[in-house]
Amino acid sequence: MYEYDLFVIGAGSGGVRAARMSASYGARVACAEDRYMGGTCVNVGCVPKKLFVYASHYSEEYEQSKGFGWDNVLPQFNWPILRNNKDKEIKRLNSVYLDLLDAAGVTYFRGRARIVDEHHIVVGDSIVSTEKILIATGSWPDIPAFPGREYVISSNEAFSLDNLPKRALVVGGGYIAIEFAGIFSGLGVETYLSYRGSLLLKNFDQDIRTFTCDELKKKYIDILFNTLISRVEKLSDGTLEVIFSDGRSQNTDLVLFATGRKPNVQDLGLESLGVKCRDNGAIIVDEQFRSSVPNIFALGDVTDRVQLTPVAIAEAMAFARTQFNSELTVLDYDGIPTAVFCQPNIGTVGLTEDEAKLKFNRIQVFKSEFKGLKHSLSGSEERTMMKLIVDVATDQVVGIHMVGPEAGEIIQGLAVAYKAGATKSEYDATIGIHPTSAEEFVTMREPVQKLEEN
Ligand code: NDP
Repeated sequence: MYEYDLFVIGAGSGGVRAARMSASYGARVACAEDRYMGGTCVNVGCVPKKLFVYASHYSEEYEQSKGFGWDNVLPQFNWPILRNNKDKEIKRLNSVYLDLLDAAGVTYFRGRARIVDEHHIVVGDSIVSTEKILIATGSWPDIPAFPGREYVISSNEAFSLDNLPKRALVVGGGYIAIEFAGIFSGLGVETYLSYRGSLLLKNFDQDIRTFTCDELKKKYIDILFNTLISRVEKLSDGTLEVIFSDGRSQNTDLVLFATGRKPNVQDLGLESLGVKCRDNGAIIVDEQFRSSVPNIFALGDVTDRVQLTPVAIAEAMAFARTQFNSELTVLDYDGIPTAVFCQPNIGTVGLTEDEAKLKFNRIQVFKSEFKGLKHSLSGSEERTMMKLIVDVATDQVVGIHMVGPEAGEIIQGLAVAYKAGATKSEYDATIGIHPTSAEEFVTMREPVQKLEEN
């Protein structure tokens, strides 16, 4: 009756996975993309960001190598080399994604897709009929309006700057702001971080937030708390003058706004179909990713639930299994581990201490803070913090947090223990790997606080 069983709009992490998996179950699938293969993660998100984080680390590695006997190391950073090498790698990944769709038998349309009615989509000159539609169009940086907005950039542009600025001011206190502040600072840019509140990373554990702020300051990031931008002016020499609402100002060469991302829903034709959206445009879906129009589905950032690539991928797999393999799959959103690739990294899974206090009668908190072995010779003042939160009634570890080198790598492993419901006694019974930082997670014996009764 229709040309396709499924038409996917958006070839990002979620869309590509949904298209490939649905096709592997025998569905006739098409996918349209008007920008770049692989979406935000591959092109202007996780992948290039992590490459830049690696790049920015070298400055302190060179510096620290002296304590280990490396002499006369004279680092020179060349931005165009990094940017161009990154571009080459992204180009390679773009074609890998295209090949994956091709190998799965998915028909690919290059162009903007618009839904004309429940079963028809226009893309370029074609009108395509489909039984089901999946919207996986992701999200886009959301920059508030203020005079001088035209002078500021988002993370999208930060990946392809012509030149690295001498000074940069990053606005926001979430993932992207903190990661880019670390990247700029590590690459030798004089870096300012402007945040409207008094402590970064609002939804993270309080200790992690305080500790991270202290560590960022050690990395020469000048954090301007309680600042709101009222306008940005361009001076005759090209300098940007950022004027805050309290009258303070800061001159800089680049202003990067990282103040959240909004769902990408414009021009999809949703309004005329009656697809229900939240105020910010996010498509409202049920646990099977079904919108208010029964054959139209949405997943990933466009639903603005958890804006993380692995979540979009997991949602895509649950969608494909449910719709095309008769396996009703409901995704479990509990225990999603996450990392912020600031320097040092933050890794976390489970509840914050405040959340655990609300949820359980009695909790115990175990905390360790130390200078890593490497820094006994490196000269660095960097410190590491680890924290476990335990529900006393069950002895289960319900929150695991870390700030320190490779926290993302370490917490990924511990997320398995979290999902398995591991108890503190099981952590205690686990032998550490010595000498590592991670061993602290199995050697914390004394709670830092007495039992807390609610
Ligand atoms: P976040 O939601 O993480 O942070 C947005 C920040 O901007 C908050 O600190 C917020 O302040 C502030 N803010 C919001 N509106 C304004 C405003 N009008 N004026 C001033 N400040 C404002 O968004 P990001 O853009 O950093 O990242 C988007 C999402 O992408 C993240 O939530 C995350 O899910 C994902 N991501 C994940 C990464 C990873 O896994 N490592 C890396 C990068 C992104 P307040 O706290 O006061 O609300």
